[in-house]
Amino acid sequence: MLDQEFERIGKRLFREGLVGANFGNVSVRCDGGFYITRSGAYLDARGVPVFVAENGSVPEGASSEYRVHREVYRRTFHRAVVHAHPVHAVAASLEATMIVPLDSEGMTLCPAIPVVEGRPGSDDLARNVADALAETPVVVARGHGTFAAGRTLDEAYLYTSTAEYACRILLLSGRLRGV
Ligand SMILES: [Zn+2]
Repeated sequence: MLDQEFERIGKRLFREGLVGANFGNVSVRCDGGFYITRSGAYLDARGVPVFVAENGSVPEGASSEYRVHREVYRRTFHRAVVHAHPVHAVAASLEATMIVPLDSEGMTLCPAIPVVEGRPGSDDLARNVADALAETPVVVARGHGTFAAGRTLDEAYLYTSTAEYACRILLLSGRLRGV
């Protein structure tokens, strides 16, 4: 069941410190739209996902970042999206416009992580994230958090975790370059 899947991924995100408090949101594509976590929901607790149609009005209760998720499903073939607030990725996004991992997993899975602009909840952010995710599996919204996408929630989670690890290594080694 989807509520269990969301909770399972949410617990992983919490365990690794990739989200805190009631931040972050996750979604999965389905026929005609997608299911997303509720606005203000704690990702490590069981909740009732909200259905958002790809076109048309958005029901009350959907996560405030539904615009980003909707735009990603409109513009790409991804089937799942994870949005988290990992500390090191956010810190790195203040220093660079393209984060280039130097650890082995990062170099393999996400060799270039774009940093995109846009106010949380805005159409600008939605467009910028969706454009970037059409080319790459994970991006960082500057000063805000990661958006990762894939065929499954597990894949989107994996990219989130890998990006955070890569940023941690870059910051600890002092080798993050402001490019
Ligand atoms: Zn956020």
